Amino acid sequence: MHIVIIGNGITGITCARNIRKADPEAEISVISSESEHFFSRTALMYIYMGHMKYEHTKPYEDWFWKKNRIKLIRGHVRYIGTEFKTLSLVDGSMIHYSKLIIATGSKPNKFGWPGQDLKGVQGLYSLQDLESMNVHTSGIEHAVVVGGGLIGIEMAEMLLSRNIQVTFLVREKAYWDNVLPAEEASLISRHIQKHHINLLVETELKEIISDENGRVKSIITSRGEEINCQFVGLTAGVNPNIDFLKDSGIQTNKGILVNEFLETNIQNVFAAGDCAEFRNPKPNHPAVEQLWYTGKLQAEALSKTISGKRTVYERGIWFNSAKFLDIEYQTYGLIFSKLNQDEASFYWEHPNGQIAFRATYKKASRELIGFNFLGLRFRQNVAERWINSKISVDQAIRNLKEGWFDAEFSKPHYIEILDAFSACTDFKKVN
Ligand SMILES: Cc1cc2nc3c(=O)[nH]c(=O)nc-3n(C[C@H](O)[C@H](O)[C@H](O)COP(=O)(O)OP(=O)(O)OC[C@H]3O[C@@H](n4cnc5c(N)ncnc54)[C@H](O)[C@@H]3O)c2cc1C
Repeated sequence: MHIVIIGNGITGITCARNIRKADPEAEISVISSESEHFFSRTALMYIYMGHMKYEHTKPYEDWFWKKNRIKLIRGHVRYIGTEFKTLSLVDGSMIHYSKLIIATGSKPNKFGWPGQDLKGVQGLYSLQDLESMNVHTSGIEHAVVVGGGLIGIEMAEMLLSRNIQVTFLVREKAYWDNVLPAEEASLISRHIQKHHINLLVETELKEIISDENGRVKSIITSRGEEINCQFVGLTAGVNPNIDFLKDSGIQTNKGILVNEFLETNIQNVFAAGDCAEFRNPKPNHPAVEQLWYTGKLQAEALSKTISGKRTVYERGIWFNSAKFLDIEYQTYGLIFSKLNQDEASFYWEHPNGQIAFRATYKKASRELIGFNFLGLRFRQNVAERWINSKISVDQAIRNLKEGWFDAEFSKPHYIEILDAFSACTDFKKVN
């Protein structure tokens, strides 16, 4: 049995490792065009900022793969022939598979902007993007970052670390306010401005202008303003990396369509991670999950299926964390930018404007739905347990200390939160 995995990111590699653990005999090959070895994509920014070297981002020593008989193939898959179970690589070689896992991740969105392919204009996803960013930002003074998501703010921070002035174009009314509730979006927007990033809200990219050498020299915004710059970061989201599947017979929509077992429409072909799209996602759940931990969880479920124990993928409580410059962000449960009709929420913000807390709950039953933490850390296992067991928001806020990180050493903001909550509800403190 030859199990072939396309993609050596967290999803592909988790599959390879888990399948090897379950089956010492299987032949396992992992193909990637990006890098020989698995590395942590989430650490790309730290390489640019000089905090880490590429070598430090590899979770396994290079000998690990040979020792575990996982064959690494450096190459780009051009075509999948599902009829005869073959793959063709760009270098002309062919590989036969018994079972195929497609874990090809995402690629940055490009929306057909005039000038989007000029020198000095790029997204940030791969090692190659990082190298190109290194080259094209060397010695420059001003950059524009287009699109206010998590990668956009990372790129802005990277550029600032090299003393490059940044203009940040955001289509929304405040940074990431399509995901964060208005108060959190406003807090982060103020924080961005404090860092001397020129945040232009409700502003889109219209055109990128070239100099005489085919390199970006300025951009024009949707408001008609021309901004001089020597680099443009395109960070308006990512989409599944699936163009090479066009004539394969594997059904796709935005991503590769899979059921809850991560099976595609073709027998023995599976997809997982950023490139997969669930045909029937649960209500309020995204059909495409583009996170590190969801890729890992999908791969864990899929490895069991491949190893003979057909297993449904269950994500559990939604969780995400990030850093907006100096402010850490954690979210647990499904908190949307706008409350659903049957929901209410309690928001607390520290007077310093850098720390905030939100608990969202069902209006009628007061059942806890989720938390947002900014500038605070909370234990994931406690948040998950509370949300899963549907405790009331009152009980949760009364017991916040239980999940507080370093409760003995950090400031006990949970007391201020409880006081503020008590003052605005009929909730009574219970000792
Ligand atoms: C800068 C940045 C920061 C991020 N930060 C966070 C974070 O803080 N938290 C978080 O949860 N998520 C973060 N993410 C998202 C996270 O990295 C992704 O969700 C995750 O890496 C997806 O893993 P994957 O294994 O599905 O795909 P990928 O990591 O994209 O791996 C897919 C691999 O397949 C290769 N490939 C694609 N097509 C082919 C082909 N045809 N032939 C051969 N090889 C191919 C690609 O080159 C790539 O190496 C970040 C992403 C970026 C870009």
